[in-house]
Amino acid sequence: TPSMAQFFEIKEAHPDCLLFFQMGDFYELFFDDAVAAAAALDIALTKRGKHHGEDIAMCGVPLHAATGYLLTLIRKGFRVAICDQVESPAEAKKRGSKSVVRREVVRVVTPGTLTEDSLLDARQHNYLASLADIRGRFAVGWVDLSTGDIGTAEIERPRLGALLARLAPREVLVQEGAFEDGLLSTLLDDLGIAATELGAASFDSAASARRLETLYGVDSLDGFGTFERVEISALGALADYLMLTQKGKLPLLKPPVRERAGGIMLIDAATRRNLELTHALSGGREGALLAAIDRTLTGAGARLLEQRLVAPLTDPAEIARRHDAVATFVEDRTLGDAIRDVLRSVPEIERAMTRLSLERAGPRDLAALRAGLRGAEAIATSLRTETDLAPLLGDAAEALTGHDPLIDLLSRALSEDPPLMARDGGFVADGWREDLDAARQMRDESRKVIEGIRETHARETGIAALKIRTNNVLGYFVEVPAQHAQTLMSPPHGETFIHRQTLANAVRFTTVRLSELEQEILSAGARAHEIETAVFAELSEACLAVRDRILGAARALAEVDVATAHARLAIENRWTRPVVRANRNFRIVAGRHPVVEQALVRDGAAFVANDCDLGADATGPAPLWLLTGPNMAGKSTFLRQNALIAILAQAGLFVPAAEAEIGIVDQVFSRVGAADDLARGRSTFMVEMVETAAILNQAGPNALVILDEIGRGTATWDGLSIAWATVEYLHEQNRCRGLFATHYHELTALCERLDALHPATVAVREWEGEVIFLHEVRAGAADRSYGVQVAKLAGLPEAVIARARAVLEQLEGGARQGQGAAAALEADLPLFSAHVPQPLQRPAEASALDARMREVLPDTLSPRDALDLVYELRALVDKDGG
Ligand code: ATP
Repeated sequence: TPSMAQFFEIKEAHPDCLLFFQMGDFYELFFDDAVAAAAALDIALTKRGKHHGEDIAMCGVPLHAATGYLLTLIRKGFRVAICDQVESPAEAKKRGSKSVVRREVVRVVTPGTLTEDSLLDARQHNYLASLADIRGRFAVGWVDLSTGDIGTAEIERPRLGALLARLAPREVLVQEGAFEDGLLSTLLDDLGIAATELGAASFDSAASARRLETLYGVDSLDGFGTFERVEISALGALADYLMLTQKGKLPLLKPPVRERAGGIMLIDAATRRNLELTHALSGGREGALLAAIDRTLTGAGARLLEQRLVAPLTDPAEIARRHDAVATFVEDRTLGDAIRDVLRSVPEIERAMTRLSLERAGPRDLAALRAGLRGAEAIATSLRTETDLAPLLGDAAEALTGHDPLIDLLSRALSEDPPLMARDGGFVADGWREDLDAARQMRDESRKVIEGIRETHARETGIAALKIRTNNVLGYFVEVPAQHAQTLMSPPHGETFIHRQTLANAVRFTTVRLSELEQEILSAGARAHEIETAVFAELSEACLAVRDRILGAARALAEVDVATAHARLAIENRWTRPVVRANRNFRIVAGRHPVVEQALVRDGAAFVANDCDLGADATGPAPLWLLTGPNMAGKSTFLRQNALIAILAQAGLFVPAAEAEIGIVDQVFSRVGAADDLARGRSTFMVEMVETAAILNQAGPNALVILDEIGRGTATWDGLSIAWATVEYLHEQNRCRGLFATHYHELTALCERLDALHPATVAVREWEGEVIFLHEVRAGAADRSYGVQVAKLAGLPEAVIARARAVLEQLEGGARQGQGAAAALEADLPLFSAHVPQPLQRPAEASALDARMREVLPDTLSPRDALDLVYELRALVDKDGG
């Protein structure tokens, strides 16, 4: 059939997409698309007609509910081409009775190009990235189509993973053939990013430059700064893909940002995961640092905070500008509270603007702009009451004002609570357009007239149940219950009422007057719709004409949101402003771990604050703390809290410490020994070593390295040797600030030899054989790990604990006598003979205890008797043991 031919032609142009083919009120899918979609969406698979003698598989989703289905498909990794009817059947008929309605793909929906609020997470960016490679030089480009943020950076190949982990794009564009490099596909797989291959033409740097010039409507890109060719290529590929998927509609993009090399603290993927910056180790966002510190009220504010947290700066001046802004609201709490009250009613502006530019917006987007700009003006007024405004906030206040003309236009033209879709109508305010008011009056009055007609008919025929109704087939009609039909069909009424339809219980008639009225109503309705559509276009245009100012205001709102929200957090949790300078200081007084502290406070416990001082001069080896201490003492917590404080400080945020002085950290590395990564098919120990290698090879003099129990994933002596050599290398070669936690107490011997290696320990107190954790970090070394005590706390069977104590004693005894620990074991204690707790020496000596125990009948003991018995037994043991 002609429509099948049309389908094939369009499908052929989009082979990698599911084709949503509009047929009236449904999007239909055919053939393999239908099979795949029906399974993915859990909807019925049916058939329709035949092709080459075989049934054509088909499924469909209603137009009005399509977004929900789209979301499911995109989440499951599909790409969807939306093919709409671009003319009405009536228009098609004018071209000839056999003509097929014209259809076009209006958009290709992919994970990286979403714009609908319902498909997006309000508080997260949705990046599309691109990787360009021109003769060994690499650049990454990224764009969030929904907000218009776009940027690029040239990077060294080994840093690609860190940058992609930071951006966490939903989709990445690579040049055809890029996957011949196996490392790239492994990297993308690891990060869980979908890749889309584009032809070489998309990445061509000359074509890219032209494409970007067209997109921005400029003659040259020089106005945006200087870009490397490879960066232009990365941006150009993004632009090409956007044009391709948006079918030529020009998206609204902000000027491209070029990230300077070294401008951002380097945090690789493993460190991000390990420090749980945005996602907890379990995968969710709950329990991560971001969730613990996020008090923002708007989606844009939340996105900006995340952006800052994942990309801390390295320029002290820029960092101080952010600190100044937070400080303003810490000092003037009332101002912050007043602004937050306004922010609560500020909706999403950036995404509304994007939809306007892509002609995908509705009246509610205009209302969002109006509410957002009203909020902006109100906040600007509040800010201006402050005499000594931080420069960042001064700039924000500037961007937040000057929107009155547009606010005024939108206030007068747009109704207070408009519908989502323009086609629903009724969003233009009364009094804005005379012709619209007239058409509406006509339409509404006709309704009144119809009610009048109904009353007259009911009175004249004496049928109180007479109704006037409407449907698509008959238009307006009179309906009476079946038993009254005869009245209308016979004189004197037979002339007026024309019989049209008999149903089981009712009979329907039309009249000449009703048909006339229907025409009037229809044309008034159509006229009103036409005018509203025109008004919508005018208002969109008015907004797009000042798009840069609107986006500036949106950005300023996010800025103010982040600063006020963070001030709030700082006040509530006693966080302070860190001092960040371009040196190698690192002095934290009474630092806390933001996430662990919150959890403890929730349980009514207190967090013990700890100091850390890793300050170094410009060139020598920086201090490296060797942290030993019992299990569960808080070593890992201490390590991480210091890395997190550095990250927060350089992100421009306050920190959970009484004081903090931080010399710019340009790289943070964090590793934990023995982290399983079975999903990647690497053994525990292999992962540990690969990650340690990455640190030793990369960490420079301004890095901060935290290593937690490196070497634990292998045999004791191997592990100790590796840890030993790692400490030496960090001290001698990397010379960076670092914290190294270990259970190998033997390492403390190194402190004598390595000047910058300082022993530190987490204090515990022993009391009647139990350990009490003090969580206090002090200078010095621990002599034992209290592993057995911790195992007891964890509820290991008593027999195992007793046996472990005995083994431990034996081992330590052997070590003291200069025997190797293993030798001590072999001599006295064949390890595998011991599944039952057996006394180690001369069992006969236990007989007094034994004899007494055999007399006991547990069932007969009262709690009181049992307690007395325990005392008695204890006395016996003491006597036996001498
Ligand atoms: P292991 O050697 O077994 O890995 P660890 O020494 O690294 O242990 P952590 O995991 O850091 O110990 O901490 C164990 C628990 O102790 C934490 O979950 C927390 O509840 C508590 N804790 C840690 N540090 C502190 C602190 N400074 N104040 C109060 N409680 C703390």
